[in-house]
Amino acid sequence: MESRIYIVGMGPGREEMMTGEALNVLEQADVIVGYTLYLNLLSKSFQRKELLSTPMRQEEERCRLCFREARKGKKVALVCSGDAGIYGMAALMYEIGKDYPETELVVVAGITAASSGAAVLGAPINHDFCVISLSDLLTPWEKIERRLNAAAEGDFVIVLYNPSSHKRKDYLSRACDILLQKIEEERVCGYVENIGRDGTKTATCTLKELKDVEVNMFTTVFIGSSGSEIINGKLVTKRGYRM
Ligand code: SAH
Repeated sequence: MESRIYIVGMGPGREEMMTGEALNVLEQADVIVGYTLYLNLLSKSFQRKELLSTPMRQEEERCRLCFREARKGKKVALVCSGDAGIYGMAALMYEIGKDYPETELVVVAGITAASSGAAVLGAPINHDFCVISLSDLLTPWEKIERRLNAAAEGDFVIVLYNPSSHKRKDYLSRACDILLQKIEEERVCGYVENIGRDGTKTATCTLKELKDVEVNMFTTVFIGSSGSEIINGKLVTKRGYRM
């Protein structure tokens, strides 16, 4: 392999929530590529590096930019929020990487929103859980419905990524309608907005209430399982220890 690109999960926001490995890789990089929002989250010491970005939705171009820069002999790091391998760019980099066999790809793990959001809420994913994205940009809505149904059927804690966007304001409400066919109205839920960034907001509620909550694209939503309860204001999923 002649060159190497690091695909780095930055965690939810603040630099202190990045792993030491991610920080080391970014310190050694000549050029950092990423969506502008994430580049802006980087501290001043990284702002002095060469920073390159492409607008949202131009993910393929962002990936190709990395490979072109690596070909020039530069040390390239591509940054993603949370974990780069969870609704991130890692898989697309491997797909596009077929065109650039001389470049090795290294994925550096980050704290995903399910994990950082869970810590804010308490301990909601302390038993079997599943993660579902409500974005139907790349997944047909019918399949999302099928997965919501299956998750409810399996009594999983459900973590929802991409619960809303400008064009999909009612998706969380639609998802709740589907879940309410199998799950009782009083099931405990929670959500966290802007985890690890300015303006963190969090709340707990019932599934019935969640149906009418307005969330934005920087929110992660948690729906408890039958083993979840609110303890001192925190959302907790019990593992079943006998006390
Ligand atoms: N790779 C990211 C997920 C990208 S999908 C990760 O591992 O976390 C984008 C979705 O992730 C958002 O719609 C939101 O549901 C969730 N998310 C990412 N960062 C977040 C943050 N700081 N606060 C709340 N939710 C976040």
